[in-house]
Amino acid sequence: MAKVFRRVCAAFCQVFPMAYAFYCDPDKPWLLTHLASKYVFRNRRGRPSRKLPQADPPQAPSLPSLYEDTEEEDNNEAPPVVAPEPEQPNSINTSSGTKSSTALEAAALEAADKDNTPTPEITYMSTSSSSCSSTNEQQKTVEEDSLEKLRSIVSVGDPMKKYVEWEKIASGGFGTVYAATDTATGGEVAIKQVCLQKQLKKEQIVDELIVMRDNKHPNIVNYLDSYLVRDKLWIVMEYLDGGSLSAVVKEISMSEGMMAAVSRECLQALAFLHCHQVIHRDLKGDNILLGMDGSVKLADFGLAARITPEQSKRSSVVGTAHWMAPEYLTKEEYGPKVDIWALGITVIEMLEGEPPYFWELPHRAMQLIISKGIPELQNREKLSPALQDFLNRCLQADEDSRWSAEELLQHPFLLSAMPLSGLTTVINAANQLREASRQRKGFGMPSSSSIDGWNSEQN
Ligand code: ATP
Repeated sequence: MAKVFRRVCAAFCQVFPMAYAFYCDPDKPWLLTHLASKYVFRNRRGRPSRKLPQADPPQAPSLPSLYEDTEEEDNNEAPPVVAPEPEQPNSINTSSGTKSSTALEAAALEAADKDNTPTPEITYMSTSSSSCSSTNEQQKTVEEDSLEKLRSIVSVGDPMKKYVEWEKIASGGFGTVYAATDTATGGEVAIKQVCLQKQLKKEQIVDELIVMRDNKHPNIVNYLDSYLVRDKLWIVMEYLDGGSLSAVVKEISMSEGMMAAVSRECLQALAFLHCHQVIHRDLKGDNILLGMDGSVKLADFGLAARITPEQSKRSSVVGTAHWMAPEYLTKEEYGPKVDIWALGITVIEMLEGEPPYFWELPHRAMQLIISKGIPELQNREKLSPALQDFLNRCLQADEDSRWSAEELLQHPFLLSAMPLSGLTTVINAANQLREASRQRKGFGMPSSSSIDGWNSEQN
């Protein structure tokens, strides 16, 4: 009975946004339909995710034989390994491999960049079946190219021998992230396993890998290695042991000094990415990872886009609705400053624990973003003039008036930044509050007033 009820609810959740989106904009049904079809609720860290993720793709005959996902997603054990294709060289380490890889990269990225053409599911909604099958053919070719490209990038060998002591740290529609120990160094790593079968656009995962691999920066999660194991891509990265910024700000509100420190670190990453022609496109508290040593790093380049000096704008609508800049929907094209708007929203997340309009459905939130411009804050009068001005510079609806990452790095608000070492106290306090709340719910236990160290950070 419960199963039937769940299915009815799921069907409703899928159908309702699509119908609503079509109703909203009959001239551009593909656009909002695109958004709506990607809308699902996910419950990670106890609150609904408002990301517009990829819908499950149709069965892709071009993929290698399917890896049976049985109980693997639900336990802490890493799945069994099947060695990657034996003859493939690791292109990262060989000059010939790198060369061919670069050419393929360009092709894959170029193909990915044509994404202002409706994606297959959108075409399916709005065109005849003959053009649908030709689009499917094109998509199949892009998929095959992407898999070929992946094979040329990933390492060969058995990652299960290289990494031990696996522990699951997150899972969702994208796949699963594990913490593991590198047997060679004894250091901890994070391994993100992405099920290629579930990726609607295989080229996006290639982009994620390339962007991480090619953009090393102290404020960007460091890519270490990758493997192709049956239909899963394993991305090995440095492990950040403090969790995500959103997990922290959900529990506690940060002092302005700490917000300034986190903002500065994010801006350093953004200035670097933008200077290297990369737009992150999914900046939010969930994708800012913290280390107990005070490090602040941008993660999740799954939606990152490359631009060029000749083509400095993009047009596809991707990201997480509540952090999206108005120009996503008001203009044909947008540039790197969508990341700056998202940073402004992330600062509000640090202030209020969640972004504006968080409990609105994504398409409603986007309507509000467009109609209201700079979102109202709960207690604006309590903020310092410097922070208010910083937010105003980030949240200009007009892209041209919005400051760039380089400009914001000079903003007086950042002068109030606390030392990053203070982050450890904040993370510990948030962890204790979470644990206390978990225990209160489960066992009627401690109150949050007994949290060590938290008062000292506030003062
Ligand atoms: P989502 O779509 O929900 O943002 P995703 O596909 O983008 O998920 P990631 O954001 O890359 O996946 O990773 C999901 C979660 O895994 C992160 O929020 C974080 O909790 C954890 N995680 C990812 N990378 C690391 C890392 N390097 N160190 C520690 N934890 C990590």
